[in-house]
Amino acid sequence: MIASSFPSILKAEMSRKGNGKLGIALVGLGSYSAGQLAPSLQETEHCYLAGIVTGTSAKEQVWATKYNIPSANIYNYKNFDSIANNKDIDIVYVVLPNSMHAEFVIRAAQAGKHVICEKPMANSVEDCQKMINACNKAGKKLSVGYRLYFDPFHKKMMELGQHHEYGTLSQLSSGFAFYMRDLNAWRINKELAGGGPLVDLGIYSIEGSIYTAGELPIKVTAKNTTKNKDFFKQVEGSLEWEMVFPSGFTSKCITSYEDNANYLKAKAEKDSFELTSAFSYRGIHGKTPEGAMNFTAVNQQALQMDAFAQCVKQDKPSIVPGELGMRDVFIIRKIYEAMETGRAVDLKGMPQYNFKV
Ligand code: NAD
Repeated sequence: MIASSFPSILKAEMSRKGNGKLGIALVGLGSYSAGQLAPSLQETEHCYLAGIVTGTSAKEQVWATKYNIPSANIYNYKNFDSIANNKDIDIVYVVLPNSMHAEFVIRAAQAGKHVICEKPMANSVEDCQKMINACNKAGKKLSVGYRLYFDPFHKKMMELGQHHEYGTLSQLSSGFAFYMRDLNAWRINKELAGGGPLVDLGIYSIEGSIYTAGELPIKVTAKNTTKNKDFFKQVEGSLEWEMVFPSGFTSKCITSYEDNANYLKAKAEKDSFELTSAFSYRGIHGKTPEGAMNFTAVNQQALQMDAFAQCVKQDKPSIVPGELGMRDVFIIRKIYEAMETGRAVDLKGMPQYNFKV
C-alpha cells in the first residue's frame, strides 16, 4: 500500500507547490470520482485534487492518505458550505446521484466557487435554470462533465458532419447500452436518477447526434421497449427514440440497461463515417471512407478538467456550459413525453445552445 500510494502523494505535493494550478474538490466519492476523476487529476496541468466532500466518513482517511489531502480540505454534506472560506479550493466538481446535482451546484456557487456538474445536469429544466442563475449571480462559471468534446474521435465526427465532408447528412444513428445487474442501484430509482438509461447513457447519443449534425432537432418520437418490466418498475429498461432535424434527416437512437450497444454512425450523400466503442473512456474506433481514424487515445477527463481550469484562469466561457446541459435535459424530458403519450413532440422553446467547430 505504501509503495502504491507514494507516487500519488508525491504528485499531489508537487501539484500543490506548482504555482498556478487551481484546486478542485470532488463532491461524491463513488465509482466515477474514484475510478476516473481522482486518477485523472494526477495528470492534469492546470488543476489538482485539493479537497473532497463525502457523506461516508470511512472514505475520508482513505482518500486523505491516498491523495495527500489535508484535513482542512475534507468536508461532509452538512459542513460543505464552509468551503467558502477555503482558499485552496477554486472549483467544486459535483459527482453525486442526479437528483442531488442542483442542490450542490447552487451551494457551491453560493460559497463562491466555480462549478463542474456531472451529466445529466439535473432532473428538470427548472432546476438547470436555477443552477445557471445561482452561478451567474455569484459571478462563477458553470460547466457540465461532457468529456467527449475533448476527445479527438468526437472532434473528428463534429468536423466531418458539420463541414459536410462527404456531402449533407442523410441519416444518423446511435446506441449506448449496457446490462444493469445491481438491484439496489440509485440509477433505477426514479427520484434519484430522474429516469433510466436515457438520462445516464442515451444522453450521449443525443449529444453525439447534435454535434455531428451541427443542427438542433425540432421534433422527437419515442417508444418504451423495456423487456423486463418486473425489474424496471420505476424507470424504463430500454428505449428507442428518433430526433428529426431541420435539414430533413433523422437520428435513430437506442438506449438500454438490458442490452449492449456503443456506436455513433453518420450517413451522408457521398459516404458514411462512424465511431464504435463510441462513448467509452478509452478504446474508441473511428472509420471514414479513407480508413481508420488514426488518433492516440487521450485522458478525456484530464483534458475536460484542464479546459475548464483554463477557462477560469483566462475568464473565458466553458464550451460545455450549463446552457448545454439544460438543452439536453429539455430534450430528455420531451423524449419521455413522447414515450408516455405515444405522440411526436415538438421541441419549441428548447435552449438554443449549438456547439460548432
Ligand atoms: P456511484 O453510485 O458510484 O456514486 C455515487 C456517490 O454518491 C457515492 O459516493 C454515494 O455514497 C453518494 N451518494 C450520496 N447520496 C446518495 C444517495 N442518496 N444514494 C446513492 N448514493 C449517494 O455513481 P457514479 O457512477 O459515480 O455517478 C455519479 C454521477 O456521475 C452521476 O451523475 C453520473 O451520471 C455521473 N457519471 C458520469 C460519467 C461520465 O462519463 N461523465 C460516468 C459515470 C458517472
